[in-house]
Amino acid sequence: MTDKDKRFPLPLSSVVDKPSKNSQAMQRGAGKVATPQTATLNAAQNGSRPVRQTETAVRSTMHANPTPAAPVRAAPLVSDAVRFAMVARVAKQGVSDTKVLAAMEAVPRHMFVEPALASQAYIDASLPIGHHQTISQPYIVARMIEVMRSNGNGGVLDRVLEIGTGCGYQAAVLSLVAKEVYSIERIKPLHELAKANLRPLRIPNIRLHYGDGMLGLPSVAPFDGIILAAAGLEVPQALLEQLSIGGRLVAPVGARHQVLQLIERVSKFEWRNTTLEDCHFVPLRPGVV
Ligand code: SAH
Repeated sequence: MTDKDKRFPLPLSSVVDKPSKNSQAMQRGAGKVATPQTATLNAAQNGSRPVRQTETAVRSTMHANPTPAAPVRAAPLVSDAVRFAMVARVAKQGVSDTKVLAAMEAVPRHMFVEPALASQAYIDASLPIGHHQTISQPYIVARMIEVMRSNGNGGVLDRVLEIGTGCGYQAAVLSLVAKEVYSIERIKPLHELAKANLRPLRIPNIRLHYGDGMLGLPSVAPFDGIILAAAGLEVPQALLEQLSIGGRLVAPVGARHQVLQLIERVSKFEWRNTTLEDCHFVPLRPGVV
């Protein structure tokens, strides 16, 4: 890795305030997951302002800092209540980790999709982000992070790696549950898109890399957790090697039929594999474009 590469991880910290902000935001957001859905969906379509009952939670949201570069995306297009409804649905689907639910509640998902799709940002579906890629479905984002957090360390995650930054949404959610988040994207324009999406959120603990995630980041490893946001026929050996002992890797595996797999590193030479559930992801591909 060249010096340039080393500097490349985006120091979002260069535009950021204190690191403690994220965890505070998360704690305040914790536990507020039950919100009526119909009214909030309407609110999204009308682009109405957040209703009063959500004001506390609104303050717990990661706030955008409108910049001339992103005037449309930074605008509050969608009511926060819609996001709470999304989190309520994710909880109903079986995700129970309150820290994960609070993180999902805090991240403004509509800022990671095109303005034209903003009103759909909180439905439980993947949405196009360009270059034949998608922003992952909210449920699966939450589920993967929940599984990764169920470690022998009470959910504490110092350093995590995401393969497949895409638009940067999952990286933003991860930034609220891990001390350091590294995320790799192989498609240059998407790497740039993620940078643009994350910049107004001023998240201090995300480092974005442009490269082939199948190789991982050996210079930064080991990782307590690794999440793959794209499905390969198998999990690359390099990633298994970069997992710390006790660390957990969560990945979709397969081609047309895919399953979510959890791989725990038990010892230097031993990994335990558990198949969790069916899933559907874009393919993991080698190299960069
Ligand atoms: N994490 C995103 C999901 C993006 S979709 C979210 O928050 O919704 C999966 C992404 O994985 C795509 O952008 C795709 O380009 C990327 N990808 C596929 N193979 C990759 C590889 N080998 N290295 C890095 N990124 C890869």
